[in-house]
Amino acid sequence: MKKTVVIGASHSGQMVASEIKRFDPDHEVVLIEKEKNVPFIASGINLVLKNKIHDLSDAIAPLVDLDKIGVKSFFGYEVVEINWDKKTIRYTNGKGLQEEDYTNLVLATGSKQYLPRQYMNVKNIYSYKSFSESLDVLKVLENANTIAISGTGYVGVELGEVLTQLNKQVSIIGPTKNLIQEYYDQEISDCIKHKFTNYGTSLFLENQIMDINEENNRLNLQLLEGSVACDVLIMANNSRPNSELYWNGLRISQDKTVEVNQYLQTNQPQVYAIGDLIALPNLLTKNKTRLSLITEARQTARIAALNIVGKKTVMPKQLNISTTQLFGLYFGSVGLTKEKLEQSNIAYKTIRVGNLSSFEKIRISLHVDFKDRIVGVQIVSEKNIQTLLDLLEIVIRSGWKMEELYSNNTSFFPMSPSFTSVLHEAAACYLAQIREE
Ligand SMILES: Cc1cc2nc3c(=O)[nH]c(=O)nc-3n(C[C@H](O)[C@H](O)[C@H](O)COP(=O)(O)OP(=O)(O)OC[C@H]3O[C@@H](n4cnc5c(N)ncnc54)[C@H](O)[C@@H]3O)c2cc1C
Repeated sequence: MKKTVVIGASHSGQMVASEIKRFDPDHEVVLIEKEKNVPFIASGINLVLKNKIHDLSDAIAPLVDLDKIGVKSFFGYEVVEINWDKKTIRYTNGKGLQEEDYTNLVLATGSKQYLPRQYMNVKNIYSYKSFSESLDVLKVLENANTIAISGTGYVGVELGEVLTQLNKQVSIIGPTKNLIQEYYDQEISDCIKHKFTNYGTSLFLENQIMDINEENNRLNLQLLEGSVACDVLIMANNSRPNSELYWNGLRISQDKTVEVNQYLQTNQPQVYAIGDLIALPNLLTKNKTRLSLITEARQTARIAALNIVGKKTVMPKQLNISTTQLFGLYFGSVGLTKEKLEQSNIAYKTIRVGNLSSFEKIRISLHVDFKDRIVGVQIVSEKNIQTLLDLLEIVIRSGWKMEELYSNNTSFFPMSPSFTSVLHEAAACYLAQIREE
């Protein structure tokens, strides 16, 4: 009988285990996980502070009943050793070592938010990802008044927004020019910046922390330009893959991700790596970027499961789809930002349509390349745009031209706003512009 051992039982680990069982119920699956409360939605703190869930344990979201589907799980056990030749792993709960052999091994050990070494022993500096770390940080944040956040990506900005809305005095610090620069153009970043500054939040962009002093239980942050005094500093910018266990035996990239091929196999036979532990090529630029979202982690788990049960499946290239809600507005993006298009020397035109006061309550920017194909989408709306983004992901992936977007048919429902009519409008504007030129 085939046996797969999965290390890590968070979003990707639990999914690969349950999908292998779905496709091959006779397959023996063993899941080993260091923590007890998984998979945990790492933005659980925001959900509690926004009153969307009652307490942090509501952010523990198991996908299936693992016992019921026959996955043998060991929670509270850490894998400490792998013998690649003998195909065995050793794991412990602190009381002696146990050993497991495997036919396939899946590495799903994800990533961790690290505190820079020099700040490890400084009081009132925190990072979080796991349930237990989040429990501590939630208490701290509830009691703090002035909070500095280092990091201008999703984690820092979403936390900053929640704390701002709770009337805490918030400062967000980071080296980038824009907020959530990885996913959004300056236009959207400016819209978010504007909201923050209206609420009195201080943004220290293109800046960084140079030194930290503790004084009377408070922190004094010396920045490249200026300074910030705060009760608490949250480091929301220092994520690294948990790959140390594999440095001896696997090919590891410079960013410490585990290298995988298009089937998510590592350089060791029948060893797969998934989720935050790996980097994958972008469909449009071919540049590899580290995975950092739950949906991406689950996608890699589904592909690895198919490969393990013998259905050879190529991992699709990435299109950086993501969405968020800040200050009551929904933001979403898929494909490349202007910055990435420029860095990759891809010539493009931008078509902007819609506005927030229209019936559809949506504003869309489409970046279109010289072959008339959409290569990037940026959206702001008062409505949830998840379904539209998913549709546009497929449109970009299929290489649709603007003519196809313009000429395709859609469903109709009386008096119901249609996002696709906004897409038709964008395609029409683009085609009219091209004709003029
Ligand atoms: C603060 C924060 C907020 C976030 N918010 C969101 C969000 O809102 N939406 C979103 O899509 N993404 C969010 N993310 C990203 C998301 O959490 C990750 O993409 C996701 O957790 C990746 O899942 P994973 O299974 O690859 O790895 P992880 O979730 O990192 O899990 C890896 C697991 O492996 C275990 N492990 C590690 N080493 C061992 C070992 N040696 N033995 C046994 N077990 C081991 C760990 O304990 C851990 O449970 C957030 C991240 C952070 C830090």
